Amino acid sequence: MGKATKLQALVTGELAGTWCVLINAHVHPQHPRKQGLLPQGYSKDVRWSDGSVTDGVLKPVPIWYIETPDARVVVDTGFGDPEEVTRIRLAQGFPSMMRTRPEWHVPAALAQVGCRPEEVDAVILTHCHYDHVGGNELFTKARFYIHKNEIPLALAPPPWAAHYLPECARHLISVRERLTLLDDEQEIVPGVRTWRAGGHTPGSVVVTVDSDRGPAAIMGDVMHDYLNLEHWWPGTSNNYWNIDDLVRAYQRVREEARIVLPGHDWRLWDLHPGGRVI
Ligand SMILES: [Zn+2]
Repeated sequence: MGKATKLQALVTGELAGTWCVLINAHVHPQHPRKQGLLPQGYSKDVRWSDGSVTDGVLKPVPIWYIETPDARVVVDTGFGDPEEVTRIRLAQGFPSMMRTRPEWHVPAALAQVGCRPEEVDAVILTHCHYDHVGGNELFTKARFYIHKNEIPLALAPPPWAAHYLPECARHLISVRERLTLLDDEQEIVPGVRTWRAGGHTPGSVVVTVDSDRGPAAIMGDVMHDYLNLEHWWPGTSNNYWNIDDLVRAYQRVREEARIVLPGHDWRLWDLHPGGRVI
């Protein structure tokens, strides 16, 4: 009962991260390349919003579509308007590279699975960084689910809380009347559950989806890349909240999940053509 009949990653945009995704301290800068630890998407030619050009890693910004006998569920909503976010981030001192295409806009992406945003019953936000909440307003009927630990930083981010943008607080406020705050272990609909991983942010959740192939784990940014798991290296682009949490979360996923789905890795589309997992 409650097993997903469809689970698909839908690309809504692309952004760049620094090339050194796994290792960022105490090593020679060439070392990760020699070890072959660069994720798919490595580029020598990333053009950042401050005009600089360096190497980096291009990352997909997916949302996830889950269909069960009971409900249509979406996980995360993308970064919204890339020009707005780029402008805000540059003003904060963070050059970025973000882009989208017409077919990547959230309604067009959802059309691939025969769904319109207003038909979605539930939206789960893995966490409230800017690239996961920007399309909230599109889901006009859905109930929203966010872990309670995300709320303080999402609504009033201090300057050190990079990737929570004060301007993104409106994406939560606009859905406040349809918002459910999650505890550490929770069922959203039959066959779809969340558990608090923390690690990347205080309230990062992993979404577990039951399927005929066993449980699938949507990791959000608790795990950016497959390499994180393969090399037992739970870093996330130099963006740690709690490494102890990350290690525990990776251990749990190794034990419980049959399918592991990282948050920002183009390799997912090689392993699951078209992003179709189930
Ligand atoms: Zn992210």
